[in-house]
Amino acid sequence: MDCNCFVDFVRDTYSTNEFIPLHAPTFSGNENKYVKETIDSTFVSSVGKFVDDFEKQVEAYTRSSRAVATVNGTAALHTALHMAGVRANDIVVTQALTFVATCNALHHMGAEPAFVDISPVSLGLCPKALAEFLEQYAEVTGQGTVLKSTKQRIKAVVPMHTFGHPVELEELMLVCQNWRLPLIEDAAESLGSFYKGQHTGTFGEYGAISFNGNKVITTGGGGMVLCKTLDSGAHTKHLTTTAKVPHPYEFFHDEAGFNYRMPNLNAALGCAQMEALPMFIENKRQLAQVYRDFFNDSDFTFVTEPEYAQSNYWLNAIICPNPQVREKMLKETNENGVMTRPIWQLMHRLPMYKDCLRGNLTYSEFIESHLINIPSSPIKKLIGV
Ligand SMILES: *Cc1c(COP(=O)(O)O)cnc(C)c1O
Repeated sequence: MDCNCFVDFVRDTYSTNEFIPLHAPTFSGNENKYVKETIDSTFVSSVGKFVDDFEKQVEAYTRSSRAVATVNGTAALHTALHMAGVRANDIVVTQALTFVATCNALHHMGAEPAFVDISPVSLGLCPKALAEFLEQYAEVTGQGTVLKSTKQRIKAVVPMHTFGHPVELEELMLVCQNWRLPLIEDAAESLGSFYKGQHTGTFGEYGAISFNGNKVITTGGGGMVLCKTLDSGAHTKHLTTTAKVPHPYEFFHDEAGFNYRMPNLNAALGCAQMEALPMFIENKRQLAQVYRDFFNDSDFTFVTEPEYAQSNYWLNAIICPNPQVREKMLKETNENGVMTRPIWQLMHRLPMYKDCLRGNLTYSEFIESHLINIPSSPIKKLIGV
């Protein structure tokens, strides 16, 4: 298969000769109506009914005890990590292959990431690699689980559901239990993805979702913390809303809170997008099937959901036969107005994380040099978007 053939196929699939982006938002429902309603009401900011409605809709869809809307996905992760007790100088174990926000969220609280390899099954944190890493570097003490070398506390494990494909959660949870480590899910990419029928982001103590413009649904910018219990949910809400103790006119704050609340204007967009979410997911799953058939007899491997999962197929991806073919593919598709993109560089290649502790990253390195993402927006002709 050559690149021109792929470009023609994508153009044909999207029925357009214009530029084809990697992932564009779709607004074809009540978006205009709800946003206009918000503006007309003047309640565009931190008070208004859409924030509550949006949180309720996400709770119902994910079957989470409590969902707390935030200004973006990074803020949701920051809040989740803080709620889980991560503090300055702690270690948080995550995967080397992720978007930088996973690391930035913990870096800004003074914690440090440690990097573990990904699994060929999910492209997310590998349970076996995690166990090996902990075996080599960690010990359980009276003060909790610590690094053998520096005695820094290891305070959380943060897997990320890459491109929406759920990680091997049962196996990961078992390793976390053995090492007494809380699991926090970076579910930024996986709204609409289920592990054995249960929504991602609801297995760990907390899960963080993103509604950035390129995600499955968008609020412009936005995020959500999924909380395991009503109590932790109430505390999370309190923390993200300046920790103000409710009172008709007094200003009393009982801890150092964040101003991470999602504005009502963004939540209005979110409510309309939630109505369309099931349709987006169905559409994206159909698109993935179309790609899968296309790449079936080629040198490329189309990345599919693990057999235990139902994925939202947020970003479609292919693994190229070698790095040279990958370069050629990236160059020729982008030159021809079909956007493709290499996967993120591994976190330890970035200057601020280059000295962080890391295990063997063989599979992460392979994926880093072979994988590209291909256009993944919902397609009008598949179902009535
Ligand atoms: C999008 C994303 C985030 C952050 O979301 P923002 O809303 O852009 O802050 C975090 N982690 C991963 C893996 C993401 O893809």
